[in-house]
Amino acid sequence: GDTYWQRELREQFPILTADPELAYLDSAATSQKPRAVLEAVQTYLTTSNANAGRGTYPWANRTTHLVESTRERVKEFLRDPEPERSAVHFTSGTTEGLRTVARDWLVPYLGDGDEILVPFADHRAQLDPWLEARRLLAERGIDIRVRALPYQEASGDYDHRALGDLVGPRTRFVAATHVHHVYGGDMNVHRIREAVGPEVPICLDAAQSIGHLPVHLDDPALDVDFVVFSGHKAMALPGTGAVWARNARGPLFRPEGWQGTPNTVGIVSLRAALDWLHAAGPDRIARWTSGLATRLTDRLRHLGPYEILGCPSSLAADSALPASQRRHGIVTFRHRDIPSDDLGFILYSHGFMVRADSLCQAGAGERDGSVRVSLHVYNTEEEIDRLLTVLASLT
Ligand code: PMP
Repeated sequence: GDTYWQRELREQFPILTADPELAYLDSAATSQKPRAVLEAVQTYLTTSNANAGRGTYPWANRTTHLVESTRERVKEFLRDPEPERSAVHFTSGTTEGLRTVARDWLVPYLGDGDEILVPFADHRAQLDPWLEARRLLAERGIDIRVRALPYQEASGDYDHRALGDLVGPRTRFVAATHVHHVYGGDMNVHRIREAVGPEVPICLDAAQSIGHLPVHLDDPALDVDFVVFSGHKAMALPGTGAVWARNARGPLFRPEGWQGTPNTVGIVSLRAALDWLHAAGPDRIARWTSGLATRLTDRLRHLGPYEILGCPSSLAADSALPASQRRHGIVTFRHRDIPSDDLGFILYSHGFMVRADSLCQAGAGERDGSVRVSLHVYNTEEEIDRLLTVLASLT
């Protein structure tokens, strides 16, 4: 069953097995790395390290091949139905990826009077690039309007009805998040597509969904034009990420070419990470982490001094919901009397590594005081139960 499967996977993470007293609960910030990824990097550096895209000797050729074939691996992993009509561009993470889409594609694409819809209460990396695009355009005398894609706490999703009212003939672009990095809910992208119609490009921030649940472009419910993600949150090394861009709809977006030295080691790690995740099975991973989130919220919502933030506390627990509408391994909460940084210290004194400061949420201001528990496939029911025992002792 799943428990045996999960135990086998967990044992492949050396950092986690070194000290069983420690529980890593901060995977939304970055993931731990399985042995297969560490070994792929080691093998590459000890057998073929060279620069890519130049040279005619075997190490350089092999490096070039690794980089180029990783673009194809990204497309395969995303089940890209038209790989010959898309591009994969490597970045250092989601922040750089979204900035690249904004500067290199969106700015030249927009004209005076156009409108774009972007989230104002998601990760800051999902707001700043679009505001910067507006500024760059304004410097050229082109005025665009940036409108808020509204979030709705009651559903833990965007407010699709309000969205419908915001869409008009000048709507040229939508940016959306797949899984919210504070609330953990799945932001049903197909409802956005329904609201904006088939022609408006959608850019998806998949930082919290890649590696956590299926992100499959052959699924009609995921009809998007850009997928931006961080490799380092999906088992690859820090400083890795990618933008997948559909070129079929007209907007043309090219890979970065060979002007500079790419992050070859990071790209090698990304390839190994995607292979690992594919073998583990994103649907099975989603079931595991949603199950852990349910275990946590089911008890936590009955513990008096705690408040679960941002979306219905029952979201994870509702097993009638399809997997795509559940909470995905992220639970953010507050204690009525204990400030979040103190709560973070208390939890670490018991071995729990959680996020207990700013969550980089746009517009959060001083509300930004909470503790986030974020999970991946290596986390266990036993860790959740131990955490609940400590949390319950603080009431
Ligand atoms: N978007 C979301 C939804 C995120 O969760 C994060 C990371 N917390 C980012 C963007 C930024 O990712 P990176 O740090 O890899 O650039």
